[in-house]
Amino acid sequence: MTLRWRITLILAAVALAVSVSAAAAAYLSTASQLRSSIDDTLTSRATAVNSTDGREPDGGRGGHGGPGGAADPPGCPAAGQFQPAAAAQLVAADGTVTTCIDGAPTLPVTAQDRALAAGQTALRTVTVDGQDYRLLSTPWHDGGILQIARGLDESKTLLRRLSLQLLALVVVATAVPAALGWLIATRVTRPIVKLRDSTRHIAATLDLSEPVAVGGSGEVGSLAASFRTMVAAVARSREQQRRLVSDASHEMRTPLTSLRSNVELLGKIERLPEPERREVVADVLQDIDELSILLGELVELASDTAADAVEPVNLADLAAEVAARAQRRTRRPITVTARSPGEVIGSSRRLERAISNLVDNAVKYSADGAAVEITVDGTAVAVLDRGRGIAEDDRARIFDRFYRAVDVRSEPGSGLGLAIVEEIVRSHGGTVFAAPRDGGGSRVGFTLPG
Ligand code: ADP
Repeated sequence: MTLRWRITLILAAVALAVSVSAAAAAYLSTASQLRSSIDDTLTSRATAVNSTDGREPDGGRGGHGGPGGAADPPGCPAAGQFQPAAAAQLVAADGTVTTCIDGAPTLPVTAQDRALAAGQTALRTVTVDGQDYRLLSTPWHDGGILQIARGLDESKTLLRRLSLQLLALVVVATAVPAALGWLIATRVTRPIVKLRDSTRHIAATLDLSEPVAVGGSGEVGSLAASFRTMVAAVARSREQQRRLVSDASHEMRTPLTSLRSNVELLGKIERLPEPERREVVADVLQDIDELSILLGELVELASDTAADAVEPVNLADLAAEVAARAQRRTRRPITVTARSPGEVIGSSRRLERAISNLVDNAVKYSADGAAVEITVDGTAVAVLDRGRGIAEDDRARIFDRFYRAVDVRSEPGSGLGLAIVEEIVRSHGGTVFAAPRDGGGSRVGFTLPG
């Protein structure tokens, strides 16, 4: 169910519950008031008739139950005295019933009514000839009882009319909030629907340049802004992947062409003299090595950084491990100077790879046997060498993918080593630097946030 329908139905349900309760309360209270008013009328009539013993208030003797002496019990009072009651009768102690209003129905008399002669007045609802009456029974002279009844038809009609009016009120009181709810929900959900349509469009077309055209400063506006940021990040990442694939295929062409011509030479290897044979095989192996290194570096660049475990990493310890390994491999003096050992939160595997790439470069671009130094100063790591140095123009570009200084292009390398360092450092929130070293050589490294 859509949000719009849900809001509308909730509002309608609340309005319905409130209006039905109010209508029920109004109906019940009116019904009870009507009954009390009928009861009050009957009681006041009975009291009036009893107080005059059935005589007319002007002193005349009412009733038509026969002449009344001082010793005779009074007969039926005049019919007018019972107004507005519809029926009245006297029930003598022996059970004789005398109807006091001409044409009025005879009211039912129960044993309980007869017991009233003891002195109590009782009210109840009775049905006579299919019609409901409110019946009052009260003691009369000589163990008799006087019964007065008023029809309930009039109050029933009133209540029926009231219930129709209340029903109309309930319908209006439910429909108006429901319609208002629909309008408000439409207004509130419009930007959400727009946002949904945008996301659907992007999912269907994969067109990340499509703007998410939802503004505003509310929750939906900020959701749309976050969504736009996410789409921009995905677009950037896709562009980077595209560039990586395109650069990689371009860079692979050189070693592949070389491999191809060397393999062609292998085809006529029997015709080649022994030293040339060995040279061709060595070239093929070197091409394969270069391709494997390039492939490894590409995989490293494209790998999912989120998959790496993040932990506290001691940069001085990490540098010492890299230095020991590089020293064993290159047989060069590689020292670590830790001015203040820095600890960062990150991936030790990737940070080790970054330091290792810097050390590999320092070894590669300096004279055989020359010493390399790693300094750790808090969270800044630098690798220093006494090699050829980096020209000022190159310094800004050496961290780009596949960039290599002109004077080293004849040497083995892919131009991805420093791009990997930059990628790792950036993913840890740090920055890279490359500077000339005092006294010659270079100082290349990075600074991480503490
Ligand atoms: P590669 O070493 O495979 O060429 P890198 O990305 O590691 O690729 O380095 C990019 C370029 O930066 C190198 O080609 C080189 O010109 C320059 N460079 C990097 N480190 C040094 C260094 N320690 N001394 C001199 N030049 C360097």
